[in-house]
Amino acid sequence: MSRVAVVTGSNKGIGLACIRALCKQLKPDDVVYLTARNPELGKKAVADLEKEGLKPRFHQLDISNKASVEALRDHLKKEHGGLDILINNAAIAYKDEDPAPFAEQAKVTNDINYFKTAQVFHTLSPLLRANARVVNVASFVANWTWGKMEENVKEKFRHLSKEEELDKIVKEFVDLATTGEHTKHGYPNTSYGFSKVAVAAMTKLQDQEMQKDSKRPGIIVYSADPGYVKTDMSSQGGDKNTDEGADTLVWLALRTENATEGRGEMFSDRKINKVIL
Ligand code: NDP
Repeated sequence: MSRVAVVTGSNKGIGLACIRALCKQLKPDDVVYLTARNPELGKKAVADLEKEGLKPRFHQLDISNKASVEALRDHLKKEHGGLDILINNAAIAYKDEDPAPFAEQAKVTNDINYFKTAQVFHTLSPLLRANARVVNVASFVANWTWGKMEENVKEKFRHLSKEEELDKIVKEFVDLATTGEHTKHGYPNTSYGFSKVAVAAMTKLQDQEMQKDSKRPGIIVYSADPGYVKTDMSSQGGDKNTDEGADTLVWLALRTENATEGRGEMFSDRKINKVIL
């Protein structure tokens, strides 16, 4: 049976490089979906990859829009009956110089990078077939952010058993940020970094959920850090190009040997790099 792969936010940057690598490494009859919230940008990215001799398909996907996520789910179900690879790559980051107040940045960043990313998983996970791989894109910034959190907050992350509990922690951070009291309560002073700690924690819980699914054995959820990559998000700073940034993400998505080693954890440069300590 041919495999089906989806990468969120793949019209540019690391997501686009994931599509390129998947098209090259999967078999010719496998199907790779480049998705974008803006169809024009998505179709242009597909046309550019076609010039490289690659054949991704396009589907619109705005992760902030429930109907858009459900439309992709319905399309995958109808056309392919399932999904084998999901790389949850789409995310946002405010620039350092952005004048938006911290409260707003905390709310918007955590809404997209955590809550809406979780929603993509929960909408598409019923389609995952046995041995499917999910890769949630986190960041080395999560390690740094962990170091900036007080013990009382770290303890909350260490004892999670359900995603609802994690939702409450993220909501608490966002609520405290509205009055500027987050650091007083042990939370870090970074919205983006906090959202990526939450992605790492979410990944562990989603992986545990998949392990309990006896009807669909072998599904694994990892998180991945691409490294510091030259993209629009990093204002073209960084020491890796996008193909290098996609390497660990795609390696995990296609991983079969020792695949259970490090399940639920974040990987950097193909090695386990635990965030929650
Ligand atoms: P870019 O800003 O270059 O690309 C982000 C992609 O996400 C774009 O395609 C963007 O679409 C898309 N996106 C944003 N919001 C939505 C949405 N609501 N629905 C669908 N797509 C959306 O970033 P990178 O390629 O650098 O980042 C990719 C991932 O890697 C992110 O998760 C990021 O946090 C992570 N990362 C990046 C690092 C780096 O150094 N670059 C370091 C560590 C982690 P559009 O073009 O329409 O805006």
